[in-house]
Amino acid sequence: MPNEERSRYWQQQSPIRIARPESFFVPALAGALHVLYPDGEVVLERKKGHQELEWSEAAGTAPWIALDGKKASFRAMHVHRTSEHEIAGQKTELGEIHFVHELVSAERGSTLVVLSVRVESGNSDGPCFSAPAPDSIRVDLKRLIPPRPYRFYRYEGSLTSGTHDELVSWAVFAEPLAVTRGDVAIVQKYAEQTDREVQSLARRFVLRSFEE
Ligand SMILES: [Zn+2]
Repeated sequence: MPNEERSRYWQQQSPIRIARPESFFVPALAGALHVLYPDGEVVLERKKGHQELEWSEAAGTAPWIALDGKKASFRAMHVHRTSEHEIAGQKTELGEIHFVHELVSAERGSTLVVLSVRVESGNSDGPCFSAPAPDSIRVDLKRLIPPRPYRFYRYEGSLTSGTHDELVSWAVFAEPLAVTRGDVAIVQKYAEQTDREVQSLARRFVLRSFEE
């Protein structure tokens, strides 16, 4: 059934507007997300005609994360020029990077876990990307995750482009990451996607992993 048909009944779309006072603090959530990216750089590829930096199967085991004890493998990353998620009425200046992961053994419900990192310009330890080639680039994924990754919002939603399929568990980091403008320019050049306006929360609740 096309997604548009489903949405008429149980809308579960992304991105959304997030307000901390309206979200729900769940103490156990802080320990539910583990970002187990390797130290150092990995190679990501841009496939012809795609504005996305993808993991190549030929490169071996993909970096991975775990959410609620379920393993999800890194598939791709891309950036939206202004942040799609709005937190406390704010969109971040430089955009929002999405790290797309696929659950290794999805049984039902969402099959993707997307980590959302809102970025702004600031002091950074130097470039996160290196050796750009026309169709590949080296990137230190770990450095693109905010310093306090245990502070995040979680909700069930959708892809923000294409068919807007409602199969994404979202983890939106509470704090933006400071990066160099050069890093943002590189990810925009390789993997910039259009921005979608915020969608209705409808019947959903947004969970929060931190109290203050
Ligand atoms: Zn995205």
